[in-house]
Amino acid sequence: MAIPTLSIVEGSYTVDMKAQNNIISKTIDKLNADKQSLLELSNKLHSSLELNNLMTLFELDISPILNLDDVIYQAPGNSDSIDTKGRHLVSYQLVLHQKDLGEVALIRRTRFTQKEQNFIEKILLALLSPLNNALDYLQAINLASLDPLTGVFNRFAMDSMVAREIDLSQRNDTPLSMLAIDIDFFKKVNDTYGHAFGDCVLKHLTECIKQCTRTTDAMFRYGGEEFNLLLNNTDMTGAQELAERIRQNIEQTPCLCDGQSINITISTGISILTKNDTQASFFKRADDALYQAKSAGRNQVITADIQ
Ligand code: GH3
Ligand code: MG
Ligand code: MG
Repeated sequence: MAIPTLSIVEGSYTVDMKAQNNIISKTIDKLNADKQSLLELSNKLHSSLELNNLMTLFELDISPILNLDDVIYQAPGNSDSIDTKGRHLVSYQLVLHQKDLGEVALIRRTRFTQKEQNFIEKILLALLSPLNNALDYLQAINLASLDPLTGVFNRFAMDSMVAREIDLSQRNDTPLSMLAIDIDFFKKVNDTYGHAFGDCVLKHLTECIKQCTRTTDAMFRYGGEEFNLLLNNTDMTGAQELAERIRQNIEQTPCLCDGQSINITISTGISILTKNDTQASFFKRADDALYQAKSAGRNQVITADIQ
C-alpha cells in the first residue's frame, strides 16, 4: 500500500482546528490542539536542531494523546521495513518543498480512526520545518566530520569519537582496540603514476578495509596515507585477526585505477586500551607499533606491548 505523502508546497500553512464533538475532539480539547497549541508545538520543536532530540520531543508530545506504543522515524534513504509486531500503524512520507524528509510511523495496539488520522496529519505539519532544519544540521555536521576523498571520518571527528569510546570502554569494562594503518612506499606510487592515481589508490584502500570491518568499527583518515580503525568490544586476538585479514585483502586485491593495475601493501600497528591509558597514549602505542612494522620490513602487523 502506498504511504500517504504529507507535503507543504508554500512557505506557510494554515490549520483549521475547529472543535469536534467526538472521542478525538475530547482528546484534542484536553490537549487544546488549536492553532495556538500547534504554534506552541512548532516553537518547541524548533528549539532542537539535533535529530534524536527533536524526535524525542515530538514523541513525548504526541504519544500520550494517542496512546502510542512507538513513534519510528526513518531518515531519507532508509528503506528498512518497520516491524509493527502485529500492532496498527499509520505512516507518512514527509516532504517539504519537494524535499524528502523521511518517514514517520506511529504504532499502537488499536486501530486509528479517520479523525485521529486527520489530527495526526495536522500535528505532523508542525514537525516538517524543524525536521528539515535538523536534517540540514546533520548534513553539515557530517560534511565537517568526513574526509572528502575517501568518505571516512577525518581527524577532527576522530578526536571526539575516540574520547567517547575510551570513556565507554573504561566505564563498561569492555575491550577497545586501535589499528594504525599506513600504505607502504606510497610516495613511489605518486611519483610513478601521478597524484590522481594516488588518490584512486587511497579510495581503493578504503574499500578494501571496509570489506573486512563491522559497521560498528569506525574508520578515520588521520592524514595523508595513514588511517586508523577504532574497534569497540574487540580484544587483542580479535584486533590481530582483523588486522591480518585487512593486510591480506589489500595485498591480494589489485588496485585498478585509470586502466592500470597495481598491488599495494600496508603496515599496521595495534594498541589495546589499558586502564591507565589516555587518548594520547592509546594512539601513540598504535603509531609506534606501526613504525616498528615499517622498520621490520613493512607489509606486516605488529601489536604494541601492553603497558
Ligand atoms: P612508508 O612505507 O615509509 O610509509 O613510505 P611512504 O612513501 O608511504 O611514506 P612517505 O611519508 O615518504 O610518503 C607519503 C606520501 O603520501 C607522500 C605524499 O605525497 C602522499 N600523500 C599524502 N596525502 C596524499 C593524498 O591525499 N593524495 C595523494 N595522491 N598522495 C598523498
Ligand atoms: Mg606510507
Ligand atoms: Mg605515512
